[in-house]
Parts: sequence; C-alpha cells; structure tokens
Amino acid sequence: MQSFFDTVFQFIRMIQINDIIDILVVSFVFYKAMMLLRETRGEQLVRGIISLFIIMQFSDWLSLNTLYFLLRNTMQVGLLAIIVVFQPELRRALEKMGNTSLKTLTGQENEELQKTVDTIASTCARFSRDRVGALIVFERFTRLGDIIRTGTVLDADISEDLLVTIFNTNIPLHDGAVVIRDNRIHAASCFLPLTTNENLSRELGTRHRSAIGITECSDAVVVVVSEETGKISFGKDGNLTRNLSEETLKKALMKSLENAGPQKKDGIFAAVGNIFTKWKEAHSHDKKEESDE
Ligand code: ATP
Ligand code: MG
Repeated sequence: MQSFFDTVFQFIRMIQINDIIDILVVSFVFYKAMMLLRETRGEQLVRGIISLFIIMQFSDWLSLNTLYFLLRNTMQVGLLAIIVVFQPELRRALEKMGNTSLKTLTGQENEELQKTVDTIASTCARFSRDRVGALIVFERFTRLGDIIRTGTVLDADISEDLLVTIFNTNIPLHDGAVVIRDNRIHAASCFLPLTTNENLSRELGTRHRSAIGITECSDAVVVVVSEETGKISFGKDGNLTRNLSEETLKKALMKSLENAGPQKKDGIFAAVGNIFTKWKEAHSHDKKEESDE
C-alpha cells in the first residue's frame, strides 16, 4: 500500500505546470469540437469514424489482415473526403472561433437575439390581427442548407417592414417559409418537409404540417401564424403549441434560442461572459445611483 502511495506521489511531483496547461488546452479544444458537432450531421459521421477505428484496431489484434488493410486505406481516403464534404461546416466553425467569443464577452450576442425575438413577435402579432399567414424557421445547430436551397436567399436585416413585404400574398416570395440564420433573414419562400404524423387535428393544413415536419428532422424552432384563424403557434421537437400571445411567443423563442447554438454561450466563455455582464450591470447601476444623487 505504502509503495502504491509513493508511486502516486512521485507521479504527482513529476507533473509540471506546462503539463497542466497542456491537458487543459486539449480538453478545451475537444469540448469545443464536441459542442460544434453536437446534433449536426457531423455527429453521426464522427460516431461512424470511431466505430470504424475500433473495428480496425480489433482486426489488427485478431490478425484479420484483409479487413485491416481495407479499413486502414478507407480511413486514409475517408479523412480527405470528410474535409471536402464538410468544407462549409469547417469554414463556419473556424469563422465562429474567430469572432463569437468577443461578441459573447461583450453581451452583444444576447442583445441581437433579444432584438430579433422582439421584432418577430411584434410582427407575428400584427399578422395575427390582419389574418396574414406566416411561417418562420429559426436555424439552430442543424444546418438547413437543403431547405434554404429550395427558396430565395436574401441575407437581410430583420425588420417588420421586410417581413410584411415577404408575407404579402401579392408577392411570389410569400409562398413558403422564411429561414432566420444568425439573426438575419437568410432566405424566404423555402419548402419544408411535411410531417408524417397522422394523429394531428384535421384543422392543421399544410402550413402547420410543414412547420411540425421541419422540427421533426432538425432542432430548428418554428413560428406559424394561421391565415384562417390568426392563431400564433410555436413548433419545437415535433410539437406545436397553439394560441400564443406576443408575450408568450417572446418567452418561448428566448428560452429556445438562448444558449442554444454552437456559437452560443457555454463553458469557459459563459463563465467569463457572465462575470463581464455582471460587472457591466453593477457598473451601470453605480453610475445610475451617482446621477440620482
Ligand atoms: P392556414 O391556417 O394559414 O390556412 P394551414 O395549415 O391550413 O394554414 P394551408 O391553408 O394549406 O395550411 O396553407 C398553405 C400555405 O402554407 C401555402 O400557401 C404555403 O405558403 C404554405 N405551405 C404549405 N406547404 C408548405 C411547405 N411544405 N413548406 C413551406 N410552406 C408551405
Ligand atoms: Mg388553411
């Protein structure tokens, strides 16, 4: 027992500060990579690669030479294929690493999201009063490139006027869904997959069924305004909550979109970001008190 503890202490004494930094940096990089891949098509791919790697190791240990040869060569070509196939995702991930940490630290990201949610909710309330049909999809982790390709890319700032124009029935763009990406109207007139759920109320037509459909095959959240009834609905994970007010819609959107994207606050960024936000709040509070006096 004594010698066991000696070995452990000897081992601990050998650990240098640079070893600790090394382990922390590697853990952080792995954690960020996992967060970026979570719930994207990359996640399944990584699982596939890990399975192939395990089978390859087993085939090596069991001397299954042909299987080992095939898997090893497939893996080498496969790595190149991954870089080509996932080039857009890799580019996005690198771009995000470059710019979002600053945005998060300054709290700018949350302000932008709040503005987006406020504009969408007040526009939907207007649609509801005027009986204008609308379908708005918020992209989260799952990239909606396939959906966007069916519509028209706008990449415009979110504004009530633009949304009213898009969903005006005299304009060709009104047919289909708007996709919101990174707090911008990325595309309009997009075609969504219809749900295959047969147990839905007959009241729900194709607009509502397509809203449910997209939340079944991705982690996107959706807002629907019914042209017939003016009811506002919110869709997430294959479920549709109906009859929302402007305020309840805002709450549902904020709850789903806050801290819910590869670019959103998590881990060490959240910790530092929160400290900074608290400091900013305290600072502005002090200033207010000073001016009150
Ligand atoms: P509402 O309550 O507004 O009438 P609904 O659920 O009854 O909606 P429909 O009346 O069939 O549905 O609405 C048709 C509109 O829904 C279309 O004009 C189109 O804009 C939109 N829509 C229908 N199917 C899709 C789809 N697959 N993807 C995107 N938009 C769709
Ligand atoms: Mg209808």
